[in-house]
Amino acid sequence: MPTALNADLHSHSTRSDGTLSPTLLARRAHANGVQLWALTDHDEADGLDEAAAAARDCGLRFVAGVEISVSVGDQTVHVVGLDVDAADAVLRDGLQQVRAGREQRARRIAAELERQVGIGDAYAGAVRLAGNPALLSRTHFARLLVERRVCASTQEVFTRFLTPGKPGYVAHAWATLRDAVGWIRGAGGHAVIAHPARYHFTSTEEWGLFEAFTELGGSGVEVVTASHGSGDQRKYAGIATEFGLRASRGSDFHSPLESRCDLGRLPPLPSGVAPVWELFA
Ligand code: AMP
Ligand code: MN
Ligand code: MN
Ligand code: MN
Repeated sequence: MPTALNADLHSHSTRSDGTLSPTLLARRAHANGVQLWALTDHDEADGLDEAAAAARDCGLRFVAGVEISVSVGDQTVHVVGLDVDAADAVLRDGLQQVRAGREQRARRIAAELERQVGIGDAYAGAVRLAGNPALLSRTHFARLLVERRVCASTQEVFTRFLTPGKPGYVAHAWATLRDAVGWIRGAGGHAVIAHPARYHFTSTEEWGLFEAFTELGGSGVEVVTASHGSGDQRKYAGIATEFGLRASRGSDFHSPLESRCDLGRLPPLPSGVAPVWELFA
């Protein structure tokens, strides 16, 4: 498969914090010219069967994926698993554990929003907006505050309320990097560090993250993704080469109304990197 393949290996459905069903995502990916597509819901593999069937119906090559929330120091890092066997029991148990903490966290987010900024009933509101009651995300709170006209955009809600140091941010312990990479590899998949430019590590800490990830058997890094500018693409292409990692490409599409980048509408991988999709079965 050529480097120029229109691969989109990062997207979200209503099984996590996306607004389209797996079926509608498959059709949209196909209509947008995607040639290889992965659904990668947060901490959840339940949408993959529907996605695979819908992709088959429109003749789109599909890869089963997941995006696992991981704690590294006091930060959250996302690890995308690609080409996983979604039926793998250890992976499923691991994802179940990661999801389990979300309900309690959501109750605490709602309590803090009420206590610190007087926003009431946010827990029930977020549950109503969640397509999957097991997966309450900050994104559902963000949509609720837009619906209630507290903010004009979900981006504004994150900036004002839901990021570290802001009133509705609640620290949370997710999976360890070792567990997440282990579950993905155990399920026959390839682990990829998602959107690395979004983290707030010092360069020494970032180097340490890639060293640990590589030692644990991680396979790749997202080089081309919606939140990366061309400087980020160059930087992480360099990191991929430095650590012997494969390069991935994915829009991180969540919603036609909210996402900056539609499915498949991304620049190609820079030349010189090895595409992660060459590893797929
Ligand atoms: P959670 O896993 O519940 O903590 O939610 C994380 C999700 O929130 C991410 O996957 C994004 O979809 C969304 N998100 C995080 N930061 C922002 C931001 N600054 N603006 C918009 N959405 C964001
Ligand atoms: Mn998300
Ligand atoms: Mn992410
Ligand atoms: Mn994502």
